[in-house]
Amino acid sequence: IETKLPKVGTTIFTVMSQLAAEHKAVNLGQGFPDFDGPPALRDALARAMAQGRNQYAPMTGVPALREAIARKTERLYGCKVNADTEVTVTSGATEALFAAIAAVVRAGDEVIVLDPCYDSYEPAIELNGGRAVHVALDPADFSPDWQRIADAVTPKTRMILVNSPHNPCGAVFDAEDLEALAALARKHDLFVLSDEVYEHIVFDGAPHQSVLRHEELAARSFVVSSFGKTYHCTGWKVGYCIAPRALSAEFRKVHQYLTFCTFTPAQWALAEVIENDPQHYLDLPAFYQAKRDRFRALLAGSKFRLLPVGGAYFQVADYSALSGADDLAFCEWLVKEGGVAAIPVSAFYEDPPAQQRLVRFCFAKSDAVLEQAAERLKAL
Ligand code: PMP
Ligand code: GLN
Repeated sequence: IETKLPKVGTTIFTVMSQLAAEHKAVNLGQGFPDFDGPPALRDALARAMAQGRNQYAPMTGVPALREAIARKTERLYGCKVNADTEVTVTSGATEALFAAIAAVVRAGDEVIVLDPCYDSYEPAIELNGGRAVHVALDPADFSPDWQRIADAVTPKTRMILVNSPHNPCGAVFDAEDLEALAALARKHDLFVLSDEVYEHIVFDGAPHQSVLRHEELAARSFVVSSFGKTYHCTGWKVGYCIAPRALSAEFRKVHQYLTFCTFTPAQWALAEVIENDPQHYLDLPAFYQAKRDRFRALLAGSKFRLLPVGGAYFQVADYSALSGADDLAFCEWLVKEGGVAAIPVSAFYEDPPAQQRLVRFCFAKSDAVLEQAAERLKAL
C-alpha cells in the first residue's frame, strides 16, 4: 500500500528494549522506572475497581481528577485554570500531543520542532497533513537558539512545539526562554504545544518554567503532562492537556473520537493521591536528583563524558573516547558486548550532526541496577 508514514519504522525504544531482553542486558534504554509509585496509589486503584468504577469516565475526565489538576496547577504555577472547560484527561501524553496537533494543524501548515525531539511529534504532524520544520538546539548545551528558530518561521508556521525538561537531553528552559518564546509566538501569532511531562523532575533547586507561569503564553498554549512520569506508572497511560477554553473545545472534538475517554479507575486513584499526598511530587526532584548524582558518580573514571542534566531522567553521554562508530552501531555493540542498553541520540534528529557521538541512559532505576550498569560501562 502507499504508506502515509514512509519514514517511520519500529521505534528505537521498542528495538532497544527487545535487544536488551534478547541479550539479557541491563536496560537503560527505553525510559521507564523499574520501581512502582506510592503504595497508596495502587491501593486506591484496587479500591476504585472494587467500588465498581469500571465504566466509561466522562469524555473530559473524572471531575475529581480535573479539579485536582487545576488546584495543583494554580498552587505550583500561579495559573488559574477552569477544571470544567480547560483540563482534559487523556490516555497518556502521547494522545494529548496527537490531539493538540490534530486540533489546530491543517493541510500544509508547518510546525517548528526543536531537534533532538521526542519521536511521536513528527508522525502526528504528518498524519494531520502538516510538515515538521526541524531546528537544531545548540549542540553545546541543547539550549534553544531563538534567533535560528525565528529564522525558520514562514507564513505557513502554525505552531511551535517545545519540551522542557527535555527528552533526551535533560536541558531545561529558564525564564528568558519563556520570554523569547512569548515574543516569537506573539509576533507570528503561533500556537504553542508545550510538552511538560517531566515537570516534576527539575534539579538543582531550579523552578520548572511551565508556560502556564506566563499569562500570555498560557493564552495560546496546549500544555501536556503525564502521570506516568510523576507517579512511576508509565504503563497506566494517563496524561492530560491544559489549554484555554476555546483551544480545549477544539482539543476535545478530537479526543472524543480518538479515545473518547481514559481508563476510569486510574483517574479516581490519581485524583485521591494528588490531593492527599502533594509531598510525593514535591519530593520528586530530590528523589531523581539523588539518582542522577549517584549514576554520575558511579561513571566517574569511565571513558564516557557526561553532559550536564538539568531535568528529566536521562543522562546523555559522549562515547567518542571509546569508539568512532555511529551511535546506532555503538548502541547495538553496547547491548550485545557491553551488556547495557542505551538509546542513540541521533534517533531524535531529522539530520543528526555527523560528528556527534551521544547516547542516552535512563537513570530511573533502582540503585542496584545503576551500579550493575555502571560496573559494565566502566569495564569498557
Ligand atoms: N513526551 C515525552 C518528552 C516523553 O518522554 C514521553 C514518554 N516517554 C511522552 C511524551 C509520552 O508520555 P506517555 O507515556 O504519557 O504517553
Ligand atoms: N518516552 C519513553 C522514552 O523516551 C519511551 C516511550 C515509548 O516507548 N514510546 O524512552
